Amino acid sequence: MKHTAQLLSDATVEHIHHCARCGLCLDACPVYREMRVESHSPRGKVQLARHIINGNLEITDRMKDILFSSCLLCGSCVAACPSGVRQSALFSGLRWRAAQRCGLGFAKKLFFQVLARERLMHHTTRLGRRVRELLHLTGMEEKMKAGNLPVGHVPPMNAKPFNREHGGVIAPSGGINARILYFHGCATNYVFGDIGVAVTSVLRRMGVRVEIPKHQPCCGLPIFLSGDRETSLACIREVMEQFVRDDADAVVVDCATCGSALKNEYPHILRELRDLGENVDDGLVRAAERLSSLTMDISEFIDAHRDWMPAFSPAHGKKVRVTYHDPCHLLRGQGVGVQPRRLLAMLPAVDFAEMDEAGRCCGGGGEFQLEYGDISALITGRKIENIRRSEADIVATGCPGCNITIGAHLKKTGGVRVLHPVQLIHMALEGAADFNESK
Ligand code: SF4
Ligand code: SF4
Repeated sequence: MKHTAQLLSDATVEHIHHCARCGLCLDACPVYREMRVESHSPRGKVQLARHIINGNLEITDRMKDILFSSCLLCGSCVAACPSGVRQSALFSGLRWRAAQRCGLGFAKKLFFQVLARERLMHHTTRLGRRVRELLHLTGMEEKMKAGNLPVGHVPPMNAKPFNREHGGVIAPSGGINARILYFHGCATNYVFGDIGVAVTSVLRRMGVRVEIPKHQPCCGLPIFLSGDRETSLACIREVMEQFVRDDADAVVVDCATCGSALKNEYPHILRELRDLGENVDDGLVRAAERLSSLTMDISEFIDAHRDWMPAFSPAHGKKVRVTYHDPCHLLRGQGVGVQPRRLLAMLPAVDFAEMDEAGRCCGGGGEFQLEYGDISALITGRKIENIRRSEADIVATGCPGCNITIGAHLKKTGGVRVLHPVQLIHMALEGAADFNESK
């Protein structure tokens, strides 16, 4: 039998004792809503955690499957819990122990090793682009699937990594209002280069000097949440070496997950690893706290400095109807929800319309979608229905994962585009005549 402190830190274990089993987290959980099985509910998993910690239950392959298949780590249960239980810390901690005991599987292990090494990522994404071209040429793009998504519905890789084309310093032509470091994450670097171009262009027009460090590793959060904390820790150390600096006013991030990592998760992760004696010292925890205080999502940064924004040209012709989907890691991970809506509503060509359940998870959850495609598709189906009902032409969202999930499902029927809010701001500043046509 293991002592509690050996499995998870005392601070994390403490959350189990705060659960009053009231069940107020059940309806908030997108997985429970589809499955209606207590062991897959947040309350059920807190009780499983209690038994594991007390030594009454073993972490077996079956338990590992429950821990991975029943949770998107969306944080909705944390937000709904009146007792302040931080279920996500418990569940991700148990995933770590489950991965140590039962293994992660070869494919996942390999994928995380690639994700954690920039050079390997460059080569792998170049190869991925070639394979995609081949699938396109042979008409296989629509037949092959990544999880529940046809490969042809997933955005292609950038021709070159964003960082290779745009890394370095981008200075405004006039006076400088602020100096920021831009953390663009893997998604912008390898898939959504247009978002990176929009970020740098909008910030430059606002008089912001943007520095894009040439070497940017993965933020490590997807790896951490999947239980490979050892690989993730190497990424975290590298990010901190690059981004904890005294000469920057802010570290600006365009990806909800990366932002949540830098702003919120690093201090929690490192405190827990330090308390468990996992080769993390107080200096690293303090550096993470400093990075957390500097980090801002791009929508949050632009909104806080709206007075630096040049005037938009008046709208010509019919306005475009835009709705907004809240990424879990932005709304619950960073408390950013009002800001992107305020920015979208002020664009002259935009008619902003709320959708129902905008804050509900889209069902993607990174690898969840690849491994548990059936449950994921049910959750995404609800999101797509809500988008359709809003009658929007465009869905704005600040997370590349949500963008891929929602975009691929919308592509099945066509007609609605998914864009990052900063892309719409960029179009408005560029004076795009028709947002539906613009890139
Ligand atoms: S809402 Fe909180 S206290 Fe209630 S069952 Fe869920 S985790 Fe436990
Ligand atoms: S994090 Fe999300 S998916 Fe996981 S148990 Fe909580 S509400 Fe359900």
